Amino acid sequence: MVSDSGGGIGDNGRGAAKTRKRIVIVGGGFAGVECARQLESELGDDPGIDLVMINEDNFLLFTPMLPQVVSGMIETRHIVTPIRTICKRTRFFEGRVKGIDPYAKTITVWGGGGAGRLTIHYDFAVVALGSEANFFGMPDVESNAFTMKTLNDAAELRNRVIDMLERAENETDPVLRRHLLNFVVVGAGFAGIETAGELMDLLHDAHRHYRSVGKDDVKVVILEALQEILPGFDKNLAAFAKKRMEERGIEFRLQSAVKAFDGEEITVRNLAGGSDSGGGPEEEEEENGDGDDGDEVIMSKTLIWTAGVTPVNMIKRAMLKTQNGKVIVDDYLEVPGFPGVFAVGDCALFVDPNTGRPVPPTAQLAEAQGKTAAKNLTALIKNREKEKFEFKSRGQMAVIGKRSAIASVFGMNMSGFWAWLIWRSVYLSKISSGEKKIRVLLDWMIDLFFSRDISRLKLARRETEKDYRVLDEVDDMW
Ligand SMILES: Cc1cc2nc3c(=O)[nH]c(=O)nc-3n(C[C@H](O)[C@H](O)[C@H](O)COP(=O)(O)OP(=O)(O)OC[C@H]3O[C@@H](n4cnc5c(N)ncnc54)[C@H](O)[C@@H]3O)c2cc1C
Repeated sequence: MVSDSGGGIGDNGRGAAKTRKRIVIVGGGFAGVECARQLESELGDDPGIDLVMINEDNFLLFTPMLPQVVSGMIETRHIVTPIRTICKRTRFFEGRVKGIDPYAKTITVWGGGGAGRLTIHYDFAVVALGSEANFFGMPDVESNAFTMKTLNDAAELRNRVIDMLERAENETDPVLRRHLLNFVVVGAGFAGIETAGELMDLLHDAHRHYRSVGKDDVKVVILEALQEILPGFDKNLAAFAKKRMEERGIEFRLQSAVKAFDGEEITVRNLAGGSDSGGGPEEEEEENGDGDDGDEVIMSKTLIWTAGVTPVNMIKRAMLKTQNGKVIVDDYLEVPGFPGVFAVGDCALFVDPNTGRPVPPTAQLAEAQGKTAAKNLTALIKNREKEKFEFKSRGQMAVIGKRSAIASVFGMNMSGFWAWLIWRSVYLSKISSGEKKIRVLLDWMIDLFFSRDISRLKLARRETEKDYRVLDEVDDMW
């Protein structure tokens, strides 16, 4: 174990002649990076401040464009920006946070690149660890489903879709072929709707390269436990999105909750009590059946889980007061009982004083909280008044595929092509690096003229010839 004295990140920890105050930001997502930027602009030149950020990846991931990585519209690396290039005056440490001890004021990190375990002392801390998929205690779903939170998730899902197309091409049984090409997205929030829209775009584009795969063979189904899609959005815009997506062949099943998934079959409970729940196209007999207890069974090998998030598990070990896994914060985003410790973004529980309800987990909010926490930290250091966190939403937007989107900006509702153009302009402007902005813009332009790339990258270790020989001996010829 390495302690926080000596060189590198550990210097000036609790060593002799310690005069510098150390601020440690854990988590380099929207909230953490915005907090670091604000602190840099307020305290960056102060020799008495040591600004440190710890994140498990060395980049900031632009999640709103993850679905476009799945569809191959944007190249994988173009939606990430190295944190070192955004926060130049912050010392960055790539590592996985294992524990936060607010009594001892230490953070334990498991470092990448063989750095081993490291304990870092802090004077002030900002917890911005974000969230992970919430499987609501269904281990079979957790181990068999695909998720949409990380860059790895997007790359894996893209590979899976192409893999299914390749397998379907060689499948002679039409029923089995359709099972391979039945993609089920669970959750009709932002992430689910945008993923389903992009997935359909990819499938419509890619199937033309596969002789035995017809347009009607591919299917995207959205399962949603609630009665409505895109909760929080204007109802007319949500209705527009549903109608437009249905026209493109996406099937909605509302009030349908997943009970189990074994990698082949999805067991779904109809919460509407037996009535037609989604209004989608008729089910085909051979694809679905009824389970023993009346639950419906959908045959699919690919379930994409976007049905909810929960703060990362590490928070539970952090000795901070939590509710539903989120760190409780006061009006100033400070953790009660631990002055100088702030929590922001998806992992913080901030109750909106206007609605009395917790604020939703969005990037816009995470950034705003990161900024306020930085200002309040500066106020603490400079003995100034802290400010309460107040948030005014600038609007909401979601792309629904095929050059169409819905947007609610400054009280104005828009849908279709113009909303899609606004989505693109707004989100392009939000990418942190000029270089990445240009790369994304070029990707979008290339997409106007060429069809999607269907190369499936096998990034795992290549199997040896011996492995192939064993396979040759047992497999059928095709
Ligand atoms: C597909 C998708 C689309 C979305 N679209 C939108 C949208 O259009 N608009 C919108 O407002 N919001 C959108 N969101 C939601 C938005 O991404 C989140 O609300 C936002 O990322 C929250 O920011 P955060 O900083 O709290 O957490 P994150 O951005 O998740 O950052 C947390 C960071 O902490 C790191 N971390 C976690 N655990 C550890 C650990 N133990 N050690 C070290 N590092 C750790 C993570 O790697 C990550 O870098 C979308 C989300 C998804 C998944």
